[in-house]
Amino acid sequence: MPEKTLFQLSSPGRQAWSLPALDVPAVDAGETARKGNDLPELSEIDVARHFTRLSIMNHHVDKGFYPLGSCTMKYNPKVNELTSRLPGFTGLHPLEPESLTQGALRLMYELGEMLKEITGFDAVTLEPAAGAHGELTGIMMVRKYFEKRGESRDVVLVPDSAHGTNPASVTLSGFKAVQIKSNERGEIDPVELERACSNCVACLMVTNPNTLGIFEPEAKRICDIMHRQGALVYLDGANLNAYVGVHRPADAGFDLMHINLHKTFSTPHGGGGPGSGPVAVTKALEPFLPRPVVRRAEGQRDGGTEGQSDRTLDPSIPRSLDPLFYLDFDRPDSIGRVMGFHGQFAVLVRAYTYIRMLGAAGLKDAAESAVLNANYVRAELDGVYDLPYKGRCLHEVVFSGTNLKQYGIKTLDVAKRLLDYGMHAPTIYFPLIVPEALMIEPTETESRESLDGFIAAMRQIADEARTNPEILRQAPITTPVRRLDEAKASRELDVCYPV
Ligand SMILES: *Cc1c(COP(=O)(O)O)cnc(C)c1O
Repeated sequence: MPEKTLFQLSSPGRQAWSLPALDVPAVDAGETARKGNDLPELSEIDVARHFTRLSIMNHHVDKGFYPLGSCTMKYNPKVNELTSRLPGFTGLHPLEPESLTQGALRLMYELGEMLKEITGFDAVTLEPAAGAHGELTGIMMVRKYFEKRGESRDVVLVPDSAHGTNPASVTLSGFKAVQIKSNERGEIDPVELERACSNCVACLMVTNPNTLGIFEPEAKRICDIMHRQGALVYLDGANLNAYVGVHRPADAGFDLMHINLHKTFSTPHGGGGPGSGPVAVTKALEPFLPRPVVRRAEGQRDGGTEGQSDRTLDPSIPRSLDPLFYLDFDRPDSIGRVMGFHGQFAVLVRAYTYIRMLGAAGLKDAAESAVLNANYVRAELDGVYDLPYKGRCLHEVVFSGTNLKQYGIKTLDVAKRLLDYGMHAPTIYFPLIVPEALMIEPTETESRESLDGFIAAMRQIADEARTNPEILRQAPITTPVRRLDEAKASRELDVCYPV
């Protein structure tokens, strides 16, 4: 039975809270106020059960396996939620002065330092609200970089395996996106790149490991080719989980990258948010970072040992008032603000907590386990589904459902059937260069048992394609809603609000 709305569940006179008797005269707020406040009336248990029922109707990572490729749907440790809800953080107003927000500024500063260490870059902004926003910010910085040099370059190269946000960010920044074809191994072909790269190219956007889960073996050579033409190389860092703590992208020669904190460093991010997409850059791009940047003044008040320092503590101000961490607005070449206030602060707290909890060794261990898990799935399902790009993968593996076409079964049917087995579907029909693509990213947080459960389900579905294809075409059978008309669902939104 469909879940009723709170308005439908309402019964006059029920209430969740009893307030103490008034010790002041009662005031009638008037008919208008009552009308405008026509709220549902329910007991506490009704409300608790309503939301609990709703919370398990949809699939989520706390409920079951969630191998959505390219999205890194790892388990989000609950300690992140504790720290991001500390009253000292949640009670802060973003306009409070530096002297009263030292803890928050310090957290931002230290997170920036950790991201620099992890990526090998020289400077970082924490402002962008998601990966796609980081791309836009980064490409705008590339634009400003060439403007400042007096060079007019109008093309950004994007491989055909790229995430759709890449060409979108390029176009929004006023550049022309030009696609380059991957070779038969799914990698960027240096020869093809050499041909496409001229002095009107500003930048190449690379995803590494790429969306096939393959590490670009020629990353360094690719960067060299671009640099020889005076162009820059942008790294889409959405797949950082594959190599965090193992490899630093700046060492391969990349000029800038974004980091999806909500993916690699764990914030629940199904359903469109919240996210955070810091951008890390080399020294040459630092002047263009969005304003403001969190900095640390000279001085060692808190026992710290080092820090970027371009402001000296003022000896005439009492030490307790002179902020050690401050916001640097004095950045004449900055592209400006890309977001109000200081970015998605609560996501920064979660990422900070995650990194501090794991430490350097823990991060490396996470990356290696993510790669191991993906390769286990690859080895176990090779042959059950087509594997168009052979060889070891990193943190995700892309299969193709073309071998089931002979039974009239599409990848969509496989994805829908998985829901009946209590698992979220992999990413499907992406990357575009793989027909009937099934992109599986198990992440490091899954046990051997849950991987085996998934592998068994995928095998069973392949068997069903042969023996009972009708059930696959009907699937899902056990979910609160069956197959939806997705175009209608997005175009004719029914929010079901009874008046
Ligand atoms: C997720 C993803 C993006 C976009 O990041 P958002 O945080 O969702 O905006 C870009 N590129 C790749 C490869 C991704 O997986």
